Amino acid sequence: MRSVQIVTVGQPLQAREVPLPIPGNDEIRIRVEAAGICHSDCHYRCGTASVARLPITPGHEIAGRIDALGPGVDELAIGERVALHYLVTCGRCDYCARGLEQFCRSVQMLGKHRDGGYAEYVVVPARNAIPVPDGVGIAEAAIMMCSTATAFHALRKARIAPGDRVAIFGCGGLGLSAIQLARACGAARVYAVDIDPAKLAAAQGYGALPIDPADGPVVRQLRDATGGGVEVALEFAGLPLTQRQAVAALAVQGRAAIAGITQTPFEVDSFGDLINRESEVIGVSDHLRSELVTLMDFAQRGLLDLASVVSQRVALEADAINAILDALAGFRGTSRTVIAP
Ligand SMILES: [Zn+2]
Ligand SMILES: [Zn+2]
Repeated sequence: MRSVQIVTVGQPLQAREVPLPIPGNDEIRIRVEAAGICHSDCHYRCGTASVARLPITPGHEIAGRIDALGPGVDELAIGERVALHYLVTCGRCDYCARGLEQFCRSVQMLGKHRDGGYAEYVVVPARNAIPVPDGVGIAEAAIMMCSTATAFHALRKARIAPGDRVAIFGCGGLGLSAIQLARACGAARVYAVDIDPAKLAAAQGYGALPIDPADGPVVRQLRDATGGGVEVALEFAGLPLTQRQAVAALAVQGRAAIAGITQTPFEVDSFGDLINRESEVIGVSDHLRSELVTLMDFAQRGLLDLASVVSQRVALEADAINAILDALAGFRGTSRTVIAP
């Protein structure tokens, strides 16, 4: 079958013919119909994040149709549309047993430890398959497996409750999903913070109230607008500045969930922000299979619209995919491109 692989770190991906994978016990094979090209894949290509082996097929945002069933799989059928949870876990270790599967002691990620979706077919454990309901597009289902899922996990970690005021820092793929999900969870108001006018306009299109740092200090704008801060702040920009702002904008007993990645620590005013307000700072890592099932339900009920997030489709060709990765690496990509083999 055709695949596009990382063969040498720091070099463009290469088209390679590889053997058709055969599903083993409790595994299924998917005919890939959509594979999202994610910013993480740039990091794997250039080496700022490492893959477990070479060559490897990247791609962790995958949806398609079941094409073959391994021995022991009886709850799924050939031809069924599914999207794939990208974390392959053991199901037996202490973390898995406690429902903390993203910390599984032998966790493997599709497209990083195991061959992923930049190929015609992929084999995964049957329990990684999330059925895609009628009415949910296959490309949307694929991209739901990554940024949308992490945005939802951030809201759940922040214990969002109906009536909460929510501030979202960074309105890329995570932020735009988070706006819709916060509203679906009953947020009274959602404020969107970004320096890019186009992203702020997109956020407004999903019903958020824009906060433009050019109009004055962000924390003061949020405190003035809410009369005392937000109950939930989500940080997706991955900047020490916005992480400080997220904590400083909290109301009494507010929760800041930090999902943006940076190597630089940020400062917290322990007395003014944490002690005085009993506020909380919470880390966010990946997401759970059960959250993906809920997201599919939201999408089917029209609470989550990702169609406008998928901006283009490319064929399973190395040159086309490398060009998209180049654009993402230079932060020139705005929304998602999906490979349609
Ligand atoms: Zn991703
Ligand atoms: Zn485990």
